[in-house]
Amino acid sequence: MLAGMDKTKASAPTAGQPRPTQRRLLQLLRQVFELEALRPGQQRVIDRVLAGQSTLAVMPTGAGKSLCYQLPALLLPGLTLVVSPLIALMKDQCDKLQAQGVLAVELHSSLCAAERDAALDAVADGTARIVLVTPERLADPGFQALLQSRPISLAVVDEAHCISEWGHDFRPAFLQIGPALRRLGAPPVLALTATAPPDVAAEIARRLRIPAAGTVDLGVWRPNLRYSVEVVADVAEKLHKLRERVQALEGPGIVYTATVRAAEEVHAALCADGVATGLYHGKRKAAERRTAQDAFMDGSSRVMVATNAFGMGIDKADVRFVVHYQLPASLDAYYQESGRAGRDGQPAECLLLFARRDQAVQNFFLGGQMVSGKDAERVLQALDALPAGEAATPIALRRGLRMPAGKLAAVLGLLQGAGLANAVRSDGRAAWRAAPPRAGRSLARVLQAEHARRDQDQRKLQAMVDYAEGGSCRWSALAQALRGENAPRCGRCDNCMRIRALEAAAAAAAATPTAADGAPAPAATPAVVVAPPHAFAADDAVRVRRFGAGRVVRAAADAIVVRFADGSERSFQPDFVRPQAARRGRLVATPGMLETVPAAPA
Ligand code: ADP
Ligand code: MG
Repeated sequence: MLAGMDKTKASAPTAGQPRPTQRRLLQLLRQVFELEALRPGQQRVIDRVLAGQSTLAVMPTGAGKSLCYQLPALLLPGLTLVVSPLIALMKDQCDKLQAQGVLAVELHSSLCAAERDAALDAVADGTARIVLVTPERLADPGFQALLQSRPISLAVVDEAHCISEWGHDFRPAFLQIGPALRRLGAPPVLALTATAPPDVAAEIARRLRIPAAGTVDLGVWRPNLRYSVEVVADVAEKLHKLRERVQALEGPGIVYTATVRAAEEVHAALCADGVATGLYHGKRKAAERRTAQDAFMDGSSRVMVATNAFGMGIDKADVRFVVHYQLPASLDAYYQESGRAGRDGQPAECLLLFARRDQAVQNFFLGGQMVSGKDAERVLQALDALPAGEAATPIALRRGLRMPAGKLAAVLGLLQGAGLANAVRSDGRAAWRAAPPRAGRSLARVLQAEHARRDQDQRKLQAMVDYAEGGSCRWSALAQALRGENAPRCGRCDNCMRIRALEAAAAAAAATPTAADGAPAPAATPAVVVAPPHAFAADDAVRVRRFGAGRVVRAAADAIVVRFADGSERSFQPDFVRPQAARRGRLVATPGMLETVPAAPA
């Protein structure tokens, strides 16, 4: 596995040489990576890395984060250590580096003894320039002892958002990275991620000791991605829309669902339509998942229908569309998943199909995890009441407490996590008993944390719904929600097209003084009739599904701000706002009207 590594032998400088110049950097870029130029963000990150400054680089998917450590690794005197969350991700990168002639090795639990020994030898004798490891391997004392003998010039944490307990992809093993690096002499760190809202970015920086000024944030915008939302009435219409869209869209694409059941339904429907479609979810066998993934990667299946189990570390550059069939749990997750489209920089579509029931699906998941204090108390009391040394099976507990299996499992999981109950084996079956009492363990505290987490999950889901229902530019909405950025309109998403159509209609209406009040507005293009803009005026009585009755505070082409009885104000896309009583001539543009408006040149 260490074959073909001649190129970097020549390029690895020895300590004491002058700092490499830009010319040398570009030479390596061409020779080793066969690329012409660095992208602006890459240059900024690489400059910091070569200067030994710890850095958090937040760069969109496909921006080329890997190169930010791969290129410096060839110029830095010591090792470049890369911690990565997934073995598949690591393997893919290691294979590519080796093919490019870079001395890279990987260390994780899937290697056979001979492969592992060869990799360890390459680390020990200093031939390995890039060492890719799992966080578990990094925490291993034997491996740390080996690394003590080799100077580390740079420690990279890929997919660094996994370090955040509040992030959407938290991996507990990532918490060990910071302490492990400090034991290794605290080398300069490069943390890489595509998704780091301010709280997650702060957490990454704190755990990896990256200074406040050490963040390079390239924003979230990717001009080649066109975002849109289609609102449907129910599941039947949604499936119909999806089939229509998949037939119409070209190239490879991913359809994400929230549930395994929906994934199976959608997969069956697309197969029935004659679309070469793979299926990937956590309930399939590993071999089946592998086959489905390989077929998607090599192009023999055009579409992958998957739950969020599919995606991280899948490096397929030419994905032309990502459709979300059900609502993801947060905007971070949505950005990450939809961002798997168009990594090659070519145009790609990101479509969310949105029905009210989507939120119900997600609420179901959240509700499933919800444990009430009363339920927890009851289970704990039942366990406490068991005779010394005895344990109760879940069936016995369920019968005794008359508690549904799902709820009981959630309660037991919570109690176990809090150190209040233990799972044991009794007659070969799983059973439960109360943990011996210990100071500092309080059910109240555990439940409080559980509820705080749930509240946060609800807020994230609400932000996702707000995005789906929102009337402003999709990219501005994403940039605002993910980073608090004020981004300009993208000019290409569904809402930008709608806004443009309304503005064009307004301009046309202003130029046609003969149009009577209430008469249809002049067409924006010969083929399209667009309703008059500003259909609502301040103080109009309106109704919004789910929120009920309210009054308009402000009305513009892109958003209607409504105040509700409880005093709250919310902004809606005009399609979601209905007049209390029908008014003559006050029409609201519907998404269907806009479909026929041609896109302005990009
Ligand atoms: P990320 O980790 O940011 O999602 P990758 O590092 O996987 O992205 O790179 C995405 C793609 O961009 C890869 O195919 C890579 O070869 C390509 N790429 C990276 N940097 C450059 C560059 N400077 N010029 C052209 N292509 C590049
Ligand atoms: Mg990457």
